[in-house]
Amino acid sequence: MAERGDGLMDVGDSTGSTVGQLAGRRATVTGGGRGIGRAIALALGRAGCDVAVCYLRDEAAAAAVVGELEGMGRRAAAVRGDVADPVQGPDAVRAAAAFLGGLDIHVNNAGILRRTPLLEIPYGEWQSIIQTNLTGAFLCGQVAARLMVEAGGGGAIVNVSSVAALGPAPNCAHYAVSKAGVSMLTKQMALELAPYGIRVNEVNPGLIETDLNRADIARPEFREGRLARIPLGRIGRPEDVASAVVFLVSDAASLITGHSLVVDGGNRVS
Ligand code: NDP
Repeated sequence: MAERGDGLMDVGDSTGSTVGQLAGRRATVTGGGRGIGRAIALALGRAGCDVAVCYLRDEAAAAAVVGELEGMGRRAAAVRGDVADPVQGPDAVRAAAAFLGGLDIHVNNAGILRRTPLLEIPYGEWQSIIQTNLTGAFLCGQVAARLMVEAGGGGAIVNVSSVAALGPAPNCAHYAVSKAGVSMLTKQMALELAPYGIRVNEVNPGLIETDLNRADIARPEFREGRLARIPLGRIGRPEDVASAVVFLVSDAASLITGHSLVVDGGNRVS
């Protein structure tokens, strides 16, 4: 959406992006090569941002996103780094910011999911989910915030949490706890970074079809069971989350910080 100057808003294209809305801003997206992160990177590019995507394993996917961004006329780069690693994660964000010449927007999106009953979760699996989803968001978010504070121009950070942060679900103890931690991290960052003009919000996606859960969604009983609890009647697309992120980092959200924006087709109210 864009301010029209008369108190009304112009609605953008089908991704929620209005070209030029974020012109010249510099954005990093962790896990920006695939799934929701890819859609966020491309939506930010359409809105006018130069974008660096951080990836871990899928170099080809990240390079393809860079190609699409460059095709829009944006500056773009792919930076490799494990967000769960206390050296690699922050280094990747610093390298991205160095390429971009600064940082106005940072999106902590990288994440992993395993579905395992509580009684069977091995320690290593618990640790890797918490380390990637929660500690990774802290490590990368902290260095992004430091860079923004040093530059003195404020900024906007969005953490990709989940509806799993809002209540328990079967076989997701480690994932739900990691995302609940992201929700508190979001509020804590919002509080402590507000004096620097840095807004921090989160999106809480419901079921969005990506590599993360494509195999689950392909099973008719999973798909039908979940669809029955989504009042708007469809499984989400990565672009549904991306448009919420573009809104939260835009000037249209300039008084919004510490907020959780649920993107779930009404699942939480059903
Ligand atoms: P995908 O599996 O499609 O993509 C995950 C992305 O995260 C990939 O780009 C991957 O990079 C990156 N990644 C994973 N681990 C690391 C790591 N240690 N360091 C750096 N990058 C890493 O998942 P989604 O797009 O579905 O998920 C994106 C976010 O959205 C996650 O935080 C997830 O929890 C959240 N979410 C997803 C929902 C859904 O239904 N899909 C619902 C609610 C929240 P690479 O490919 O290079 O390995």
